[in-house]
Amino acid sequence: MPELPEVQTTVNGLKSKVLKRAFVDVWSDWEKLVKKPTDSNLFKRQIKNKKIIRIYRRAKNIIFNLSEDYSLLIHLKMTGHLLLGKWKLVDNIWKPVDKKSPLNDPYNRFLHIIFYLNNNHMLALSDVRKFAKIELWQTKELEKELQKLGPEPLEDDFTFKRFKGCFTKKRGKIKQVLMIPEIIAGIGNIYSSEILWHAKVHPEKLVQNLKESELKNIYKATQKVLRLGIDLGGDSFSDYRNVNGEKGSFNEQRKVYKRENEFCSRCKKSKIKRIKIAGRSAFYCPTCQKP
Ligand SMILES: [Zn+2]
Repeated sequence: MPELPEVQTTVNGLKSKVLKRAFVDVWSDWEKLVKKPTDSNLFKRQIKNKKIIRIYRRAKNIIFNLSEDYSLLIHLKMTGHLLLGKWKLVDNIWKPVDKKSPLNDPYNRFLHIIFYLNNNHMLALSDVRKFAKIELWQTKELEKELQKLGPEPLEDDFTFKRFKGCFTKKRGKIKQVLMIPEIIAGIGNIYSSEILWHAKVHPEKLVQNLKESELKNIYKATQKVLRLGIDLGGDSFSDYRNVNGEKGSFNEQRKVYKRENEFCSRCKKSKIKRIKIAGRSAFYCPTCQKP
């Protein structure tokens, strides 16, 4: 599932290309992707001719502030990613106009909604599992909704004091708590395992038992790993691609996620282990991350 670095990579790619453009029309073969409003004809009518004023990320949400106080929210969920380009329908299948474009990558072929922009370009969602969420909000209403989320870990005001404050009165295993968006925004299964490996903290350690020094290490690792993820254009181990349809390269820097039974690259003594925490896989080094 795309996390903060992947969503930020998408947002960065969109900013340079679709700001100040307007939506002209929408095509979809899976109208259930649009959750708000549930009437897809109403959605099409409301988004038509709205200009894109601002694009930003909040947690794992991509948000387009539009003219007339509307906002479009897209959550990529499991396997979604946004693509920019030009396609044409050939025998009822969307094919990229440019045959050499990375948009021809098989992972980019699951187009289920296409927004037509007023510069003859298209913004498409490729989503093999069709779990993505698209919502059109009144901007004020959406802003209120987003206030329920925890702080952004890469903002300047996210100090160690603030980070520590996120865990006050919280209980549970650190791996699980790090992934709760109302506590800290944007961290999912890949980056939580990576962060804890860098911080040398066992994923099952209880938040209420963490020492100050361990919290400090997790804080530093959170910023380091998420920044690295953005610098490398995200992780494309699974379906994620950037708006041009290209892979990110965080994959090469992955230390533990989906590396079970490989030797730890730091201690070189132990093999990476995989355990289940609340139904999700967690990966760690038993030598570097003692219980
Ligand atoms: Zn190790």
